[in-house]
Amino acid sequence: MAVGGHRALELLNTVAWRLDPARTEERLPDDDALQRWAEGAGFTPVAVDGGVAEVRALREAAYRVLRPLATGAAPGDPEPVRRLIVGALGRAAIASVAPLDWRIAVHGTSDLPAALALEVWRLLQFEDLTRLRECADEACGWLFLDRSRNGSRRWCSSGDCGNRDRARRHYRRTHT
Ligand SMILES: [Zn+2]
Repeated sequence: MAVGGHRALELLNTVAWRLDPARTEERLPDDDALQRWAEGAGFTPVAVDGGVAEVRALREAAYRVLRPLATGAAPGDPEPVRRLIVGALGRAAIASVAPLDWRIAVHGTSDLPAALALEVWRLLQFEDLTRLRECADEACGWLFLDRSRNGSRRWCSSGDCGNRDRARRHYRRTHT
């Protein structure tokens, strides 16, 4: 599941085939799905006690800010993201003083909107977003940090979108 290279991006990528409305797939339909996803992402929410709607709202607000950074489109409105990050910081504990870092204890799924807002803040604050890319597949829509040395990664997953592209090009080569 670690395609994006950052927890905030794994969250954004819980929508599959985002750029093809006929195929778009919501991978966080309810709180149970949110709990399973969060465990895979390294959180340990024991209780299933809500939060999925807020997590999806955070995801979409962050997507509107982050996608233009990958594609060069007009910048998205950062205000909703600002509000969610400030709200999360308002209830966060200090994890470390120097350098300053914050922590949200995750006991249940209802803690995830705040914990994930901090992940979005970390992504925006600390990562090299000139490395943010959108998968080259025309329907996929997943975002990732290109950590390859020469910055040449094009696909969310070379074994997935990359393979489909190779198969398409092979088909065209052998059928024309
Ligand atoms: Zn892809």
